[in-house]
Amino acid sequence: MENATLVQLEHVSQIYRSGERRFYAVQDINMEIREGEFVFLLGPSGCGKSTLLRIITGLQAPTEGLVLYRGQPLRGVNPRATIVFQTFALFPWLTVQQNVEIALKARSVPSDIRVPRVLDLLDRVGLDGFESAYPRELSGGMRQKVGFARAMAVEPELLCLDEPFSALDVLSAESLRGELLELWTEGKIPTRAILMVSHNIEEAVLMADRLIIMDKNPGRVISRVTIDLPHPRQRKSPRFLEFVDQVYGILAGQTQPEHIELGAAPGKPGVTRWLPDVHVGNLVGLLERLNETPGDTEDIYQLADDLGVDSDTLLKLVEAAELLGFVTVAKGDITLTPLGEAFSDASILARKEIFATRIRRLPIFQWLLELLRRAEGRKLNWDVVQTALSLELPPTEAEKQLEILVAWGRYGEILAYDDETRIITLELAGGLPVSKDARGG
Ligand code: ADP
Ligand code: MG
Repeated sequence: MENATLVQLEHVSQIYRSGERRFYAVQDINMEIREGEFVFLLGPSGCGKSTLLRIITGLQAPTEGLVLYRGQPLRGVNPRATIVFQTFALFPWLTVQQNVEIALKARSVPSDIRVPRVLDLLDRVGLDGFESAYPRELSGGMRQKVGFARAMAVEPELLCLDEPFSALDVLSAESLRGELLELWTEGKIPTRAILMVSHNIEEAVLMADRLIIMDKNPGRVISRVTIDLPHPRQRKSPRFLEFVDQVYGILAGQTQPEHIELGAAPGKPGVTRWLPDVHVGNLVGLLERLNETPGDTEDIYQLADDLGVDSDTLLKLVEAAELLGFVTVAKGDITLTPLGEAFSDASILARKEIFATRIRRLPIFQWLLELLRRAEGRKLNWDVVQTALSLELPPTEAEKQLEILVAWGRYGEILAYDDETRIITLELAGGLPVSKDARGG
C-alpha cells in the first residue's frame, strides 16, 4: 500500500513584483510528499525553493494553484509543519533550554510535559550538558542544533529545512548531516516526512530518498530522481557517484546553439541573459584544470573536489565558461573548446585580450558599452546603471549584476571603475575593438 500523501501542490505559481515588473518566481509546480519520505528540493539560487517552502508551510499563499495537506486545502499557517532556516534566530537572553521551550510555551504545553520533552530532545541532538548555556557560548553548529531541537519540539509531521547547513563550516555541517540522518533513519523523531532545500548536489544524494530538481527563470521543476541507495551511503561508491554525475548532468544542461546561449540584452525582446556570479580567477582555474585533462573532457562532478568548490559554485563556473565559448557541456561532461585551450595556454596579457573579445559578444555587455558610449565623457555613475538594470531585476540582483559586469570588464580592460567617485568609465579600447599596438602604449 502507498503511504499517505501529506503535501500536494497542483499547478502552483507565485508571481512577485519588482518595481514595475511582475515575474514568475515559480511556475506551474506539481509535487507530492508522502509519509516516510525524505525529499530534497534542489536547484540554483533564485529558482524559488524558499518560496515553495513558505507556500507548503502556509506562511504564504500562492498567486495561483492549489495546496493540499492530507487532502485538505491549506488555509493559513500549517500547524503540523515547521521550518528550520539557514541561520536560526535564537533569543540571546534565553538559555538553550529556554530557547527550545519557548516553541512549546507558545502552544500552551504545560511545564510537566514541556520540560522533560525538551531535555530529551536536547539530549538526542547532542546538546546534553549545554541546557543552561547561552547562545553566545555556542558554536555555529551547536546553535543550529538548538534550532533543530526547537523545530522538533512541537513534533511536526512535516519538517522543512531551508539550507540548514549552508551557513556552517564544512566539518560542523558534515557532522550535523550525519546526526539528522541518524535521527530520521532510526525513527528517533516523530516526524513523518522531511522536505529539505539545498543547492548542494552531494548533500542531496547523501541524504534524500527523492530529489525534485528545479531550474530558474522561471522557477520550475525540470526533473525528479529517486535515490534508492541504502543508508549509510558511501560517498566514493560507484553507485553514489553515478547519481552525482546524473544530477550534475541535469543541472548543467547541454550547451545550446550560440544565439540561444547568448540570450537578449536588457530591455530587448526575448529572455535577458544575466551573468553567472563567478570570479574570473576561479574561471581561469577551471580552464587550466581541464587543459591538464587528457582529451580535455571530464565528468563535471570530478572537478568539484579538485577545485575545492561546492556544486552550486561549480555549476556557475561551468555556465560562465560555456557562455564565453570556452567549454561545451553535454550529459554531465565538460569539454574544453579550442578557444578555451588557447585562453588557458595564453600569457596573462593575451588572456585579457581573449576575454575582452568574448565579453564584447555578450548582449548585456553590448548594452552597457552602448550606454557608456552615449554618456558624456564615456562615464556613468554606478547608481545610474544600477537603476537602469533595476527596471528588470530586484535591486539586490541589479547590484550583483553590475558588480559582475564591472569585475569582468575590468579584467578585460574594457572598463575602469573608481570606488571613491563610483564612476564607471569606458576604456579607450572598450569603444572599438582596438588592438594593443594600435592603442600606442
Ligand atoms: P531560492 O530560495 O531558490 O534562492 P527564492 O524563493 O528565495 O529562491 O526566490 C525566488 C525569486 O523570487 C528570486 O528572484 C528572488 O529575488 C525573488 N523573491 C523572493 N521573495 C520575494 C519577494 N517577497 N518579493 C519579490 N521578489 C522575491
Ligand atoms: Mg532560498
